[in-house]
Amino acid sequence: MNIDIDHQKQNLAGVSRAELAAAMTEIGAEPFRARQLWHWIYHRGSTDFAVMTNLAKPFRERLAEQFALRRPEVATALTSRDGTRKWLLRFADGNEAETVHIPEEDRGTLCVSSQVGCTLTCRFCHTGTQRLVRNLTAAEIVGQVMLARDALGEWPSTPSGAGEDRLLTNIVLMGMGEPLYNFDNVAAAMKIVMDPEGLAISRRKITLSTAGVVPMIERCGRELGVNLAISLHAVSDELRDVLVPLNKKYPIAELLAACGAYPGSSNARRITFEYVMLKGVNDTPAEARELVRLLRGIPAKVNLIPFNPWPGAPYECSRAEAIAAFSDILFAAGYSAPVRTPRGRDILAACGQLKSASQRARRSERAVEPAEA
Ligand code: SF4
Repeated sequence: MNIDIDHQKQNLAGVSRAELAAAMTEIGAEPFRARQLWHWIYHRGSTDFAVMTNLAKPFRERLAEQFALRRPEVATALTSRDGTRKWLLRFADGNEAETVHIPEEDRGTLCVSSQVGCTLTCRFCHTGTQRLVRNLTAAEIVGQVMLARDALGEWPSTPSGAGEDRLLTNIVLMGMGEPLYNFDNVAAAMKIVMDPEGLAISRRKITLSTAGVVPMIERCGRELGVNLAISLHAVSDELRDVLVPLNKKYPIAELLAACGAYPGSSNARRITFEYVMLKGVNDTPAEARELVRLLRGIPAKVNLIPFNPWPGAPYECSRAEAIAAFSDILFAAGYSAPVRTPRGRDILAACGQLKSASQRARRSERAVEPAEA
C-alpha cells in the first residue's frame, strides 16, 4: 500500500461510535456496519479491512480505498531492566509523545500522555521543561492504548476483571501533559477506551492525575467517573507555589475542597495524593503530620514517590530513612502510604521523567528542531 496515499485517508482507529456511524453514512453504508466495524477495530484490534470476514469482499475493498486503520508510529521503543517498556510515538504531524507500560505481579498499567509537552512547569518534572506543543486528539490518546495492546499481543480485548493475567489492566493519565487542560479530548478518548464492546477497560481501572485544575475536577468525576489522583507534593502554599506553580491559581485549600466533593469517591474508592520525596525540601516529619491534618475528611491514600532524577534536575531524592519515617507517620494516622518503587528509571520512563524532543512550532511552521540532548 502506498504510505502517502494511506495517510491521506481518514483513520478509523481511534474514532468514536458517532464518528464511525457518520463515516458509514457518508459512504452510503447501512448503519449496522458501524457496529461491525467497531467490533473489529476495538475488540479484535484489526489493522486491515481484509480480515473482516463477516463483511462482503467488495465492501471491504471499498473501506480500504476510503479509510485507514493506522496506529501512531513508534519512533523508539525501549525496555527497562525491570520490564517497563517505553514507546516514543510519532503522530501524523511529526510531533512526539511517550507512553509507558509498567508490568506488576497482579496487574499491568499503561501510563498515557494527553499533551505534547505541558503548559505547567512543575519544578521536579522533566516534561515541565518542555513547552506545550499541542493537545493530543482523542484518537491519538486511544491510539496509545491500541499500540500497547498490539505490542503486548493482547487482542482480542476482554472486559476488565475477566482476564486477571492480562498485561494491560489499568490506565493512568499520568504521562506527558495536564489531562484537565485537554479534557474534551481526554473524555472522548476514555469513553472509547471504557466501551464494554471494545477496549473494555473499566472506569475503576482508570486514574486521571492532575496538578490541580480545580474548576475541572467535579466535571471529570461526573462525566467520566474515573479515579482521581492529585499531584500534591507540598503541604504549604508557599512551597507548592514553587513546586507546582499552578498552585498560585488554585491553592491547596481550594484544591482539597474540590477533592472532598469529588463525585463517586468513597472509602472504597479513595483519591490518591502523589507526593514526590525531595531531599531537604518537603520530607520532614512535621510535613508528614501536616499532610495528615490536611487530608482529614477526604477519602484519601498517599503515594510517596522517591524523586526520579533527570538531566539537569534541580533536586535530589530524599534519603531512604526520611521516606520511611514520612510513610510511618501517615500509616499511623490510618492512611495507606506505600513508597512507590521507581520503575523504568534506566530508560527515563519513571514518574516525572518523560519528555519528547517536539518543540513548539514557530508561527505556522511545523516543528523541525533537532532533538534535545
Ligand atoms: S507533573 Fe504533570 S502537570 Fe506538572 S509539568 Fe509534569 S506533566 Fe505537566
